Amino acid sequence: MSQALPFLPFALPEIGDEEIAEVVDALKSGWVTTGPKARRFEQDFAAFLGGEPGLEAIAVNSATAGLHLALEALGIGPGDEVITTTHTFTATAEVARYLGADVVLVDIDPATLNIDPAQVEAAITPRTRCIVPVHYAGLAADMDAILSIARRHGLKVVEDAAHALPTTHRGALVGTLPSDATVFSFYANKTITTGEGGMLVTRDAALAQRAKVMRLHGINRDAFDRFTAKVPSWYYEIVAPGFKYNLTDIAAALGIHQLKRLRGFQARREQIAQAYDAAFAGLPLIVPPRAKGDDQHAWHLYVVRLADDAPLDRDAFIERLFALGIGVSVHYIPLHLHPYWRERYGLDAARFPHSQRAYERMVSLPLYTKMSDADVQRVIDAVGQALRG
Ligand SMILES: *Cc1c(COP(=O)(O)O)cnc(C)c1O
Repeated sequence: MSQALPFLPFALPEIGDEEIAEVVDALKSGWVTTGPKARRFEQDFAAFLGGEPGLEAIAVNSATAGLHLALEALGIGPGDEVITTTHTFTATAEVARYLGADVVLVDIDPATLNIDPAQVEAAITPRTRCIVPVHYAGLAADMDAILSIARRHGLKVVEDAAHALPTTHRGALVGTLPSDATVFSFYANKTITTGEGGMLVTRDAALAQRAKVMRLHGINRDAFDRFTAKVPSWYYEIVAPGFKYNLTDIAAALGIHQLKRLRGFQARREQIAQAYDAAFAGLPLIVPPRAKGDDQHAWHLYVVRLADDAPLDRDAFIERLFALGIGVSVHYIPLHLHPYWRERYGLDAARFPHSQRAYERMVSLPLYTKMSDADVQRVIDAVGQALRG
């Protein structure tokens, strides 16, 4: 019976008529690259975070670009060490290597799958400059502990918030916490999408200024100012060898309307997560940790782990789910297992027991707003069937 149903993809974006109309408007306007819509998206994003004066949102063409710009603006370079979690996507760590800095990977807290602050503190050396926590799956990392360690040791903190829109930590939205910078992703499968895109958020005026210059070739003001100035203005100066990281207006057009729908998207994701939690209660699965107190989980990912008494291993579980027409994934193959990271730093899985064990038992199930209640039920039924054998 389930064979007759089409394959349920692991993730799908939800793009509506407003997004499409705004993209068409950009195309017809004659201004397709960074311009008024990118600026509006930045303003709307800063307003979404509460509109605090001095908090700047800087649109970029990926979160990877935003992380690179943040570390560059903080002066991270050769000889420096950046501490992050092994349990993440490679983008979190690769940006430090772009700058010639070294990456120090640490293990996770097995309950939350977020970076373990005790491991961070133990990894600090005289070369440590920055900590990059990831709010894994959309659950805030232990930012009180991380910010306190950073303060005590004089370190910078750049949050990889690719999963964390909208996530709260003690009632405050991620993006407004007292770190140096926070970077969001609008990649196709994230909680809102611009196809490719990202947002760098900071209260540090010097960091913002540097990131805006480096975002576009090291030009001392952006193309939008240059071409719309009232006074004819052809002159510009290159003040650094910058990058090409600006977000196009075509992409920003999507972002403007995705952002308007974010609260609704989050509510639907929460609903699906709750349906899964309830359905999986009696099964040999560890369901994802909930946010503490009244805090909000962004539910970018719903990651289950097979319990010790599960009748099959992770690979067999995935094979059965695929056979039942359900797309799933694994987040992540830890960085310490990838050839580049393993060989560059001589890493060994025994140094990351919690990440390693979680990886060996974890599966990410479909969780996205385009899923119907029937799709959710299909996943629930398939998980039950796969575990019963
Ligand atoms: C998606 C993702 C990124 C990179 O985002 P892009 O916008 O694709 O560059 C970085 N870190 C984590 C944890 C991610 O999931």
